[in-house]
Amino acid sequence: MNSTPGFNLDLAGLASRAHAVAAAELLRQLGSSNQGLSGEEARHRLQQYGKNVLPRARPPGFLVVFLRQFRNPLIYILGIAAVISGFLGEFTDAGFILGVLLLNAIVGAVQEYQAQRQAEALQQLVRVNALLESGDKVPGDIRLVSEQGLDVDESLLTGESLPAVKDTSRLCPLDTPLGDRANMVFAGTLVSRGRARGLVVGTAGNTELGHLAQALEAPTAPPPLMQRMSRFTTWIGIAYLAAVFLIAGIALLEGQELYSIFLLAVALAVAAIPEGLPVAITVALSVGMARMARCNVIVRRLVAAETLGSCTMIAADKTGTLTVNELTARRIHLPGEQPVEVTGHGMVPEGELRIPETASPKVHEMSEHLARAAILCNEGFLGRRDGEWVHHGDAVDVALLVLAQKLGLSSTSVQARYPQIATIPFESERMYAASMNRIDGRPVILVKGASETVLPMCDSMLTAGGKSPLAREELARSAENLAADGYRVLAIAESEGLAENSSSLGEDELHGLVFLGFVAMIDPPRPEAEKAIASCRGAGIRIAMVTGDHPATSLAIAREIGLARDDTEVVTGTEFRQALKQGDGAVDDLLRGRTVFARVEPRQKYEIVRALVRQGEFVAVTGDGANDAPALRAAHVGVAMGKQGTAVARESAELIITDDNIASLVAGVTQGRIAYANVRKVIFLLLSTGAVEIAIFVFALAAGMPLPLTAIQLLWLNLVTEGIQDVGLAFEPGEGDEMERFPRSPREPLFDRSMVERIVLSAFTMGALAFAVFWWAFEYQGMSLEAARNLTLLLMVLFENIQVFNSRSETRSVFRHNPWRNRILLLGTMGAQAVHIAAMYTPGLSTLLQASPVTLVQWLELLLVASSILVVMEIYKLYRRKYPLSAAGSRNS
Ligand code: ADP
Ligand code: MG
Repeated sequence: MNSTPGFNLDLAGLASRAHAVAAAELLRQLGSSNQGLSGEEARHRLQQYGKNVLPRARPPGFLVVFLRQFRNPLIYILGIAAVISGFLGEFTDAGFILGVLLLNAIVGAVQEYQAQRQAEALQQLVRVNALLESGDKVPGDIRLVSEQGLDVDESLLTGESLPAVKDTSRLCPLDTPLGDRANMVFAGTLVSRGRARGLVVGTAGNTELGHLAQALEAPTAPPPLMQRMSRFTTWIGIAYLAAVFLIAGIALLEGQELYSIFLLAVALAVAAIPEGLPVAITVALSVGMARMARCNVIVRRLVAAETLGSCTMIAADKTGTLTVNELTARRIHLPGEQPVEVTGHGMVPEGELRIPETASPKVHEMSEHLARAAILCNEGFLGRRDGEWVHHGDAVDVALLVLAQKLGLSSTSVQARYPQIATIPFESERMYAASMNRIDGRPVILVKGASETVLPMCDSMLTAGGKSPLAREELARSAENLAADGYRVLAIAESEGLAENSSSLGEDELHGLVFLGFVAMIDPPRPEAEKAIASCRGAGIRIAMVTGDHPATSLAIAREIGLARDDTEVVTGTEFRQALKQGDGAVDDLLRGRTVFARVEPRQKYEIVRALVRQGEFVAVTGDGANDAPALRAAHVGVAMGKQGTAVARESAELIITDDNIASLVAGVTQGRIAYANVRKVIFLLLSTGAVEIAIFVFALAAGMPLPLTAIQLLWLNLVTEGIQDVGLAFEPGEGDEMERFPRSPREPLFDRSMVERIVLSAFTMGALAFAVFWWAFEYQGMSLEAARNLTLLLMVLFENIQVFNSRSETRSVFRHNPWRNRILLLGTMGAQAVHIAAMYTPGLSTLLQASPVTLVQWLELLLVASSILVVMEIYKLYRRKYPLSAAGSRNS
């Protein structure tokens, strides 16, 4: 190859006129060859033209995130309060409020910034593959040189939702619109079907996508959960504000000073309104996201971290998800011969064929003949690199290459010896692949695929004695028997020599073929699958297998992993489609109790998902191929396979499982449930403590007493009981019984009966007791107002910090949760409590807070009162364990 250092191209110009230039001419202009660029030249050009990445908007830096914290109505109110205090000469008040403002913003910004960093780091794990076959994302603008049945989804660029059909034979006039340039494919578009080769004429900014890049950077809408949450916070805010106004009004009527009422109202609003909620929830979800990533589940959108936990049904692929996807050919069935066993494991070609002694001497030759066909009609790769066997491509293809290699046939030399003329590549819905190669001077068609598709194409078979009529029934039966034993059966056939000049290959040519034999492969179930399935069952999640494979093979695997017992649980794609024609009732009847969907085409998979969704299931579905995209989108949670998954599948999915393993998905469900539970825990803590602050003021005013806390004390209380604690709760590890509960209904409101009961009960208890202490100190003991407030403040801090631990479970006892398992929460809460105690002793700060040390006796009294909230909530939990509220309780009770 002649590389031309310093070779200078007008890349920008080239991409926009490549469709009007002949491929050979382009090849010359690009200084490339059929083998592509040399490594050295590729490096050189990389240097010259830059990497193939689109300029991306950078995520906001820390300063921006920090400044954004101030875009919040509550902060405005606080700011205004600070200004007014300043004008009135109350500089300590003003200074304190500003300090609170700053602290709030710093805590918020740190949390948000970290969550954002985490989300980004995860995104980078998703890479684009640079091969052009069905399911790929096109990596650059490419002038096609050859193509087999290529359909491309160009809706990104043209808005046209139907796939564009490509044809490389034509030159297009220079002014051809983008959508009609049949000999080009464009960066960022998706290959929905077929294969292609071509010359890259534009990368990065020099592609059509590059020109569009700015336009595409649309702001992303906040996810539904967050929208719901901010609406929810707004409502709570309004309710609390109304209460604040009421309290302020009464205080005014009672003749309190206007300025202090104003400050109080602001402080009460800031303390009671759960403004930290959105941040804490984002943290809970990002923690869930990070934990899922540790279980090999990558979440593409933050909220999906929680949605996975709500799924009531998982429809999983068989190959690769429930099985290891290491296909190994175990047997060869040649027409009229006894089966030949093949030894060896996995995808390494070490093993041999065990030909029975009584077999015909021709069997070895017949096996080689079959292996040759399997090599030629194959898109996989098997070769040695640095003394190690390496492979890539479809597992079925590789398994056949491994088989051939065990016979001593090297795929690369066989393919070089019999050059390919045309192919029909494998696509799931076709269930076969075909190739036309020149063998001994004549074109020959070679076919491999499912026995139901390939046998009808044949009318004869090759036996030891030569060609003879096809024993159709007998062969179909033996394929059926193999499938029932769990084998994936591939039928292999070839044509007789065709006319010298044949060069086109289509469906119509595939008849009158000679059947060569079956290859029976095993794909062992994943060892983890059985446990994962059992765990789903325990969690009230239905699980089903959806596969293109034969019903008998599928059932055999399903039984091994405890997914199905017998064939009454199997339904085929065709049966499903028939039921669909008869209407919803027939579909419901058909689906009842089914766990294995076999011989399902991708299109039918979509329909199955739709039917399940209609039945009210919350469906998670796995998929890998380009044509799985509709099913992935139709499901509530689309799950793409990271290893064997295509770019198209990944783009359509909410989640990606990096190891394709069902066990990872189930671990992800657990984490999703934990994330949702943590969101609820955070909400409970913030709302119940906010309500207490309102409650104590309501009680005091109703009793005609002075205000139980000053504005500054309220702001301080807010500081040492929130901020750290709510975020700490977002880090809660699971309670351990997540997978023993039924799935929560996705329509279930966050603010359900359990939430209301617990908030009202705890806010009333704490509010009433705090008021009682205030009353006892001020009225009964005759303490000064400052001393009574001091006790009340300390009690409130204690109450709210104990409530943090009550929030760790909705129904289980505090004492069943080791506090050390959530160190952030434990240390954060203890630290905040220590800060308050320290403040009581710190000159200056204690004056500002009007706080002072309390006696040992008072300490003991306050601790006793504060612990009552623990007792009350423990009793409530005991009661609710005995009389559970909903199906969300334990499954076994
Ligand atoms: P799965 O859902 O198990 O991935 P597929 O849709 O990939 O099923 O395959 C469906 C059927 O197509 C298989 O049972 C097999 O008979 C046939 N098949 C699978 N892979 C290939 C291939 N690479 N070439 C030819 N036929 C194949
Ligand atoms: Mg497959």
